[in-house]
Amino acid sequence: MEKLHIIGGGMAGSEAAWQAAQMGVPVVLHEMRPQVGTFAHRTGNFAEMVCSNSFRSDDDERNAVGLLHWEMGAANGLIMQMARAHKLPAGGALAVDRDAFAEAVTERIKAHPLIETEYGEVADLPHEGQWIVATGPLTSGALATSIRAETGADSLAFFDAIAPIVYAETIDMNVAWLQSRYDKGETEEERTAYINCPMTRPQYEAFIDALLAADKAEFHEGETAGYFDGCLPIEVMAERGRETLRHGPMKPVGLTNAHNPTEKPYAVVQLRRDNKLGTLYNIVGFQTKMKYGAQTAVFKMIPGLQDASFARLGGIHRNTFINSPTLLDDRMRLRSRPNIRFAGQVTGVEGYVESAAMGLLAGRMAAAEMLGRDLPPPPPDTAMGALITHITGGAEAKTFQPMNVNFGLFPPIDAKGGRRGRKDRYKAYTDRAKESFTQWLAS
Ligand code: FAD
Repeated sequence: MEKLHIIGGGMAGSEAAWQAAQMGVPVVLHEMRPQVGTFAHRTGNFAEMVCSNSFRSDDDERNAVGLLHWEMGAANGLIMQMARAHKLPAGGALAVDRDAFAEAVTERIKAHPLIETEYGEVADLPHEGQWIVATGPLTSGALATSIRAETGADSLAFFDAIAPIVYAETIDMNVAWLQSRYDKGETEEERTAYINCPMTRPQYEAFIDALLAADKAEFHEGETAGYFDGCLPIEVMAERGRETLRHGPMKPVGLTNAHNPTEKPYAVVQLRRDNKLGTLYNIVGFQTKMKYGAQTAVFKMIPGLQDASFARLGGIHRNTFINSPTLLDDRMRLRSRPNIRFAGQVTGVEGYVESAAMGLLAGRMAAAEMLGRDLPPPPPDTAMGALITHITGGAEAKTFQPMNVNFGLFPPIDAKGGRRGRKDRYKAYTDRAKESFTQWLAS
């Protein structure tokens, strides 16, 4: 039988290899380490955790990443099985002994009768056969060049520049208002595409002081700050001059405060829709290297965001990823070359768990196709379904940036009762997801 080739033995590639082999499809897993290293990996093991040793919250009732753990467990995921086997005490989080975990994944992969491993860098996007590219945020330079030649330069990024993303329902619309700058747009929807948060002069000055004083994260050694002027961190813009932001992303022109039309705001923070569902908004131009704790405190100073909940905080990292919404179909195949699938962080998800989950789906989908069957993605009300729907079509392609799993990606369930109501609603999300995922697995 034809073999499935997988490039990259990280979180996604290991899981994809396991799933396909368990379905009876022979696999060749290509890994460049230890011959060719990266600045973050230390070993030649599969599924090496390059930084934190945590798979984050294990609460499968009220947390989206905990739900993803549950789904991966239900689908016999290797990464989750080995994580549970090497779990360390960590309260509600699933933390593991990283070396024992990666060694166990490596052992299980090598012992599988249907998986061969081949060491060495794959430098070109292959033309023949069935392939999954799961080379992660640190995809080797040669392969990245080859991917770029196929997808076009604008569709492969080498850095993420993530602006914080806010749950729309937590923005105070008694303070903020909907309007596009200069009311531009053909339709009412376009003319009201942005949420605007006004600032007075004292609020702006206090905000700039807080930005300048905030704790910032450093780039890792070897990561180097190769970002462009077009995506400078906001705190770097503020360092260039106290007025820079007011002439950049916070300029108040072309906007009228619907709650106070006669008073011109001194500065305006704009938020733009981040998904088709309209449940998530990103703060425009607010990519940042501030530490997470500092970000929450500083961004809550923005009028209208005082009670905001963040689906994800901002960041700038070395991160190779493709523009999946334009390049991939819903079976994770490259539209221009359907014999090649992409999986893991290179598709624009972020994190160990999300990457492994996308590997699980790609492995199963590729194996199904090779067995003459078609496997549709899980429904969008499951954690895996919400993620794959987001990256292959739900996200705005123009502003596509890597995404963690969060409830803002799920089709909404009606909110009742404020903050407490939200907690109960998360349980409703996970109950609905578990039922849907179980049905998908059975079918
Ligand atoms: P990886 O796990 O990176 O696996 C990709 C594999 O492909 C690697 O083994 C690589 O050697 C191999 N490869 C690359 N190019 C080639 C090639 N041409 N030929 C053959 N093999 C190749 N996530 C978290 O959840 N928590 C964290 O704390 C965290 N910290 C991070 C810190 C850094 C510095 C970086 C870079 C990332 C961090 N991440 C973190 C993200 C995390 O690394 C990824 O989410 C996850 O590892 C992605 O899984 P993956 O399988 O897509 O990629």
